[in-house]
Amino acid sequence: MTEKARAAVLLEPRKLAVREFAVPEIGADDAVLRVEAAGLCGTDYEQFQGHLKGTPWDVFPIIPGHEIQGWIDRIAPAAAQRWRVKEGDRVIVEASIPCGKCFQCQQGRAVLCHAGMGYGLRISATRPPHLWGAYATHLYLHPQANVHKAPDDLPRDVLSLCNPMSNAVRWAYERGKVGVGDAIVIAGPGQRGLLSVIVARAAGAAMVVVTGTKADAVRLALARELGADATIDVDEEDPVARVHELTGGRGADVVLDVAAGSVEPILQAVEMVRPGGSIVLAGLKSQKKIGELVPDKLVMKEISLIGALSSSWTAFEQAIPLLQRYRAELAKLCTHAYPIERAETAIRALGREIIDRREAVHVHIDCTLDG
Ligand SMILES: [Zn+2]
Ligand SMILES: [Zn+2]
Repeated sequence: MTEKARAAVLLEPRKLAVREFAVPEIGADDAVLRVEAAGLCGTDYEQFQGHLKGTPWDVFPIIPGHEIQGWIDRIAPAAAQRWRVKEGDRVIVEASIPCGKCFQCQQGRAVLCHAGMGYGLRISATRPPHLWGAYATHLYLHPQANVHKAPDDLPRDVLSLCNPMSNAVRWAYERGKVGVGDAIVIAGPGQRGLLSVIVARAAGAAMVVVTGTKADAVRLALARELGADATIDVDEEDPVARVHELTGGRGADVVLDVAAGSVEPILQAVEMVRPGGSIVLAGLKSQKKIGELVPDKLVMKEISLIGALSSSWTAFEQAIPLLQRYRAELAKLCTHAYPIERAETAIRALGREIIDRREAVHVHIDCTLDG
């Protein structure tokens, strides 16, 4: 009898249903993953609401889940050799499935690959072998998937921060180049902003400042627990003046904008970054324009304005030891977990549609739980 996988399928916006699929036989060069957990982020909520129209991620029906961890269930010898893993190994799987052949892949920028393959966002559940998302008990591992070995002893919820931690590494460290002695301002205390506090500390930053709004009070407190030297409630005080005060008038070396939706932090970043400093833009703004930006300021201050998308192979590799080293502090971010059958509740809790006793910071689907 064929083994069955259980998966939550997003049939249309706001409509999830659990369906069964046959667990595929492996071929000459692929594998099947037994999914342990799917981490959730703002993209899961956008996808659930049907707000990804006009992007390559407007796909239905789909098994969501692009932040993937699990154990190798079955694997072809060629794949085992390529990924240097064996059956039973615990792994992290990247969302993107790069082609390896296009111009961007050859330049080492798999995140910009033209092939358009990726777990949880881009491939419909109608496409065989169907298991292309992590809100499921099993996932098909395509030969071009990117797989990272993960330690066995890391708690499930902390490991489920691997994807956003890899974003924080990529944005603050690889793109922003935060380093020893630097002052960094992180605008937006979502999970990626909070994880950037850890990355900045690990990179040797001397001053870590996190900004947010009045609604972010719990998260700003969490930022201080994670080691931020100061937090700024922008509804209460002028962040530009405060950053200049904190840096002795010099300004920040790096400003990382991870605030979703609002362009105001970008305008503030131009004012608070020091001459010769960098601004990394990683928060999406729903296609909004920046009305008041004076480009001359970028020229006169020689500001580097850097866009940062998603992650990289090296950022994933660096994220894993950071999760190990800071596991005790990071456990505080992991606030909610739900079984596959309650995926809808998980997404709505993340989107603050459902409020319980605890502020939802990081939510994951625990795919090992039965209904
Ligand atoms: Zn995500
Ligand atoms: Zn490619």
